[in-house]
Amino acid sequence: MSENQRATDQQMLASYLAQWEDYCPSCHYNIHKLTSDTCPECGEKLRLQVALKMPKMGAFIAGLIGLSASAGFPILFLGIFFLAIVGNGYQPGHPYKLTMLYTLFFLINAVFVFLWCRFKLSLIRSKTRFRWPLALTAWLLCPMTVVISFIVMQLYQ
Ligand SMILES: [Zn+2]
Repeated sequence: MSENQRATDQQMLASYLAQWEDYCPSCHYNIHKLTSDTCPECGEKLRLQVALKMPKMGAFIAGLIGLSASAGFPILFLGIFFLAIVGNGYQPGHPYKLTMLYTLFFLINAVFVFLWCRFKLSLIRSKTRFRWPLALTAWLLCPMTVVISFIVMQLYQ
């Protein structure tokens, strides 16, 4: 950003705050009539910008939570498995197969998390009738991962 652009931005911010009462987004301090671009209470830099009234992030966040939970279950099962070995002296029948399968499940789910984040903008731009069913589908991976992880544990313990 050039020095002229920065000065113009600061003038526009000061002009806006001279007319309108507003609050620092960080500390909620009243910045009405502030003449600089720094909050006097918390020291954060401020700028004037266009913002959304209602960001369409609900489906994205819901899907991300579902996919992240799905990725976490194989790690949880693997942790329980290792705790049983270390803590209780448990001797599993196929420890390497179990470890490899849980790692594979984790990696598959991690790819879904990556893709979900990679195509975030496409998801947000899509229609509601497409966005929310996709988020629900992402959540359906949770019970599927738990059931598959449990079946794997039963087969290879
Ligand atoms: Zn502040």
